[in-house]
Amino acid sequence: MKPEAGAPGSLPDRALGAYLGLALGDALGATVEFMTAREIALRFADQGGVHRHIVGGGWLNLPPGQVTDDTTMSLALGRALLEGRRLGRMGDVRLVAEAFVAWWKGRPVDCGNTCRRGIQRFIRNGALSTPPNEGDGGNGALMRNLPVALATLDDDAAFRRISLAQAHFTHNHPHSDAATLGLGRLLRAQLAGADAQDMARRVAQLVKAHPAFRFDPYPGRASAYVVDTVQTVLWAFTRHAGFEAAVVAAANRGEDADTTAALVGMLAGARCGAAALPRHWLRRLAPEVAREVTQQARALVAPFV
Ligand code: MG
Ligand code: MG
Repeated sequence: MKPEAGAPGSLPDRALGAYLGLALGDALGATVEFMTAREIALRFADQGGVHRHIVGGGWLNLPPGQVTDDTTMSLALGRALLEGRRLGRMGDVRLVAEAFVAWWKGRPVDCGNTCRRGIQRFIRNGALSTPPNEGDGGNGALMRNLPVALATLDDDAAFRRISLAQAHFTHNHPHSDAATLGLGRLLRAQLAGADAQDMARRVAQLVKAHPAFRFDPYPGRASAYVVDTVQTVLWAFTRHAGFEAAVVAAANRGEDADTTAALVGMLAGARCGAAALPRHWLRRLAPEVAREVTQQARALVAPFV
């Protein structure tokens, strides 16, 4: 597909770049999810030891260009936000909960354990949030928060409130909260056109406020534990100025590769804009995904254009 999103560097271009970037990273990384970096290097030995093409497969045996829960949960959340805005109650977590239930009932290709627990609990007893839990340190709330960042561009208090509300539907852990807000604010700065120096300063501030996210020297783990995820995302995003290089670097760390690559794709896509995304990857992205991502990106930022 050909992105149609206004002038390069404009807000619509950056917002679409972020959302398509998330989907592209998901589609690339899914092929090597749960593999180790060493297994990936061996498996792609005939391609220089690097996985860099959207080919599907992986443990979910996906068709090329198909995405996983990272993108489809984001789309479910985006639908809830747009409906809430229409009804004058954007961020109402009941709408978010209902959107996640509809997503779950649509038989998604995968769903993390903590997400499934939160959705099943809501179906059982209507609970809209989960109490703080040591076991909720996964990256499931972080991975799907992009639409909240787009929908609240003019209002940081609303960004914080809605991010935490949607997060706590399934995950309630201080590292998850810090990651969801921290990466969301980096995304918002990048959407506003922050330059590399400004972004580096903001990344340093995030690490100073949350030393667990320190990624230099890179500890080398890319699991679904949100601390590992954030370290890998910040490492790949800051080390590579180009979109493709940054996303490939994250995916090739393996482990939760679809999620780390999706989040790098989100930040790097906001940095370069939709017009600069790699055409050979966009051509591979499932058309129905590209369509809804494009429609949502445009609608979510429409009030700010
Ligand atoms: Mg996934
Ligand atoms: Mg994943």
